[in-house]
Amino acid sequence: MSKNIAVIGAGPGGYAAAFYAADLGMQVTLIDPEVNPGGVCLYRGCIPSKALLHIAKVIDEARHASAWGLTFGEPKIDLDRMRGFKHSVVQKMAGGNGQLVKARKITYIQGMASFVDATTLQVEPIAGPLKFDSIIIATGSHPTKVPNISIDSPKVLDSTSALDLPDIPKRLLVVGGGYIGLELGSVYAALGSNVSVVEMTDGLLQGADRDLVRFLHQRLEKKFEALMFETKVVGVKDDKTGLKVTLEGKDGTKREESYDRVLVSVGRRPNSKIGGLDKTKVQIDERGFIKTAPNRQTDEPTIFAIGDVAGEPMLAHKASHEARVAVEAIEGQKVAFEPAAIPAVVFTDPEIAWAGLTETDAQKQGRTVEIARFPWAASGRAITLDRTDGVTKLVIDPATERVLGVGICGPGAGELISEGVLAVEMAALATDLKLSIHPHPTTSETVMEAAEVFFGQATHVYRPKKKQD
Ligand code: FAD
Repeated sequence: MSKNIAVIGAGPGGYAAAFYAADLGMQVTLIDPEVNPGGVCLYRGCIPSKALLHIAKVIDEARHASAWGLTFGEPKIDLDRMRGFKHSVVQKMAGGNGQLVKARKITYIQGMASFVDATTLQVEPIAGPLKFDSIIIATGSHPTKVPNISIDSPKVLDSTSALDLPDIPKRLLVVGGGYIGLELGSVYAALGSNVSVVEMTDGLLQGADRDLVRFLHQRLEKKFEALMFETKVVGVKDDKTGLKVTLEGKDGTKREESYDRVLVSVGRRPNSKIGGLDKTKVQIDERGFIKTAPNRQTDEPTIFAIGDVAGEPMLAHKASHEARVAVEAIEGQKVAFEPAAIPAVVFTDPEIAWAGLTETDAQKQGRTVEIARFPWAASGRAITLDRTDGVTKLVIDPATERVLGVGICGPGAGELISEGVLAVEMAALATDLKLSIHPHPTTSETVMEAAEVFFGQATHVYRPKKKQD
């Protein structure tokens, strides 16, 4: 008898789970309010933001090209066509996902699911009660609200409304120096807004190594109007001409600034408030995440949880890998989601990417590591791109010479990091990266040369290894 499973939520976690379960021969029902699968990632997250960042990149490169003797006029911005491009990208992928649902003979129900009990769902507005052997919760997350900015004004944006490109505000305040705020801030800055960022902590992208963030900080200082750290937004008033924002510094001093729009981007909260979930044994932690075992089973044996609703990092590829683990667990396999490296990518300019152990975490854990850094100023490819503002670093266990982590800052870092993921997952040694022939001239060589730096033998930097006593 094949298993009959339901997946609640059709984001990159939910649809990956549904597709894999169908491939393994299970009868699958996938439930989501949208016409086609995609979730936040496709409709309001990863994909539309990257389509707009691509436009921003073209604008920035065209502006920068005058330094190479190629001068273009100021770009003519047609917001309708930009929205149209972004919409067509989303629709192409959504339509493709819809076809894959049909090809796999998955029952797709458009609606919101709630629990009747641990194996029964009701779907509003149309279906139920429906009984299943197992249920996977993949309901994702939503933007966090800031109590001081809870005014109901269309000038206050969250990531979803910012992606709609309502207009190009003259002055835009981004609240939060995390990756979503910086990515969207970069889009608006390229389109012509004067962007300021206000961040409560002392730097951008908390959690990322400071030597990676340094290059982005320097570039954004030039591109943005202001970067304000250790500063809080304590009030926002809409006075019809604009938004009056009260900012409070670390020492308690307050000042008022006017902005045309404010984009609030201070993190996301899990969607764990699902109707009827309290009728099951599923447990939720103090931050709102559904508690799961390593195989993603909850305290209710028939219910599994994956993706943003099941914990950090809230990333699409983490969700879709957890999906496969949960499905295999339902099939009866002994599995666990225990990756050595979940890559993180910030798609700003320059991009920042890391995987595995970071230097910051090694310090926090008191773990002895050696850092091998290769500056992009010594990379032939980076010089041809006129983009030497980058670095590739390896976090290495000095005892075993094993690569524990990789961090990269520079254009295209997001594409380069996969080699780092493979190295960490396959327990590669620095020697493996050093001996693997990388194509010239590419920025991928910086990974190989960082390994050479570890041995004090990098071709393009002179940094002899200190002799051990
Ligand atoms: P989601 O994608 O959130 O999907 C959950 C789905 O469940 C939604 O469609 C929701 O409507 C549905 N749902 C909720 N409750 C119910 C219910 N009761 N019944 C039925 N359906 C329900 N991640 C990356 O990895 N790379 C990026 O570049 C990136 N960029 C981002 C940019 C932005 C602006 C944002 C906001 C996010 C970005 N993310 C990125 C994060 C990424 O979108 C999420 O990590 C990912 O979508 C999580 O997938 P998920 O399957 O857990 O849930």
